[in-house]
Amino acid sequence: MATTYDLVIVGAGPAGLMAAKVAGENGLRVALLERKENITAIQRSCATMFAIEDDYYFGERMYFNETTKRLVFPVTGFSLPYDGPYKNFYAWHLYTSDAQHIIRLGSYEANRERGASGRLSVTYSKHHLLERLLADARQAGVHVVTGANVVSFRRHGDRAYLTTAEGATYAGVFVIAADGINSRMMKLLGLNKDRSFYGTLTGVSYYMTGLDLPYPEAINYPMLFHKETQYPIMIWIEPSPFADEEFWVYVGGPSHPAISYKEELDRFISSSPFSAWFPRPVVKRMQAHVANIWSPAPVPFKDNVLIAGDAGWTVEAECTGSMMCGLKAAFAVAKALRDRKHDAEGVAEYIAWWHEHFPNAMDYTEFLQLLSSASVGEDRANYLYKLVTDILPCSLNPYNLIKSVNTSIMRNIGKIQQERPDILMALQKASMVPLKEQMRSFIVTGFPNT
Ligand SMILES: Cc1cc2nc3c(=O)[nH]c(=O)nc-3n(C[C@H](O)[C@H](O)[C@H](O)COP(=O)(O)OP(=O)(O)OC[C@H]3O[C@@H](n4cnc5c(N)ncnc54)[C@H](O)[C@@H]3O)c2cc1C
Repeated sequence: MATTYDLVIVGAGPAGLMAAKVAGENGLRVALLERKENITAIQRSCATMFAIEDDYYFGERMYFNETTKRLVFPVTGFSLPYDGPYKNFYAWHLYTSDAQHIIRLGSYEANRERGASGRLSVTYSKHHLLERLLADARQAGVHVVTGANVVSFRRHGDRAYLTTAEGATYAGVFVIAADGINSRMMKLLGLNKDRSFYGTLTGVSYYMTGLDLPYPEAINYPMLFHKETQYPIMIWIEPSPFADEEFWVYVGGPSHPAISYKEELDRFISSSPFSAWFPRPVVKRMQAHVANIWSPAPVPFKDNVLIAGDAGWTVEAECTGSMMCGLKAAFAVAKALRDRKHDAEGVAEYIAWWHEHFPNAMDYTEFLQLLSSASVGEDRANYLYKLVTDILPCSLNPYNLIKSVNTSIMRNIGKIQQERPDILMALQKASMVPLKEQMRSFIVTGFPNT
């Protein structure tokens, strides 16, 4: 006989841990099931910027207060202690693939001069964040089960039953699916059938020393192209919070059988126009990720399962968006239990909140344009990017980034018409094509978990 909980949570990332802490602290009987043995060991690539300080994001205006050492979410109405390491950064620099030109988002020098008040945000330690959430959840009496890989789900009467690959079964009045971007729960519930698939992003990251960067306290973002496939290759370098001379160096892009992102990263370091940035490269730790890109779940609820964090969003809800979901979902369950409404009506406020803060707040197609815009190819992309010479306002918001760069490019439309009419024709042609068609090559080389 399975023990019955008020709430069973699948996945102990930021969304699941936050849900567990909040539900436990508010008196619910909670089980938290996590397939990893060590919850706070971070194996998956994550830039862990505190996203996003400089703009509203998912309807929130979050920031890190270094005096009180708290991560603050003033709109949703909560804050969390954070006493781990962090580093400020001041601008986002996009480099053309030949390393000849920088698009500057934010003024590095001016922002740096202002210190913490001029920063874009901080990089911080996800390990420390999760450690604290886990300690709070345990303290609140949550039954934390590690090494528990949920593989099946069924609804019987007014209970939801989850079975793990290890053979244990857990029953809950409600379930929160917080099992991340490649959610098995979404698949088990049949919810991916209602979503559009746009490809699979894969990537590899190193924590490294021995770099010599022109702008060490910035995000350095060379925009490269894979020679054979012309797929976009995103590089991301930022200060690591863990040591003074350490950096997080990431490469990623759409999956393709001909692309090994690890090889691309090694090539970038050893023999690219950017190799001078790596005079004495030493790799300290390595991580990787695989992420399916789906349109958002139409409804973040089915069969008494609330969907939280990356599980129901397009790409990454970020740790911040995921924690907001976890908190809101846990309170919604507490209220539904109190009202004795064990159904969609009971958690209607969560469903409405999720729509308001996720699909209605962010246009996920803007994010996808970031990928599809690269399909103009290396030569054309480099020509267009070199037209952007003014310092653009910086936002870490990837849903707005492409708009800002494109607006600046389009101010030069007369020049492009004169010098490269082929590009204008290609762009016009592309704009007539639906996004799904533009992303077709990425879709066919992806591997969806339908
Ligand atoms: C390259 C990259 C850079 C990023 N940069 C940032 C950044 O700068 N700032 C930021 O805030 N976010 C960033 N993110 C996003 C961030 O990592 C995620 O949005 C966040 O971790 C999502 O939290 P989550 O709790 O929804 O899912 P996850 O963190 O993925 O947690 C899901 C948990 O569920 C567990 N699980 C999965 N399946 C099962 C199962 N069947 N049974 C039991 N357990 C299961 C997993 O082991 C995992 O612990 C980045 C991500 C990537 C890939």
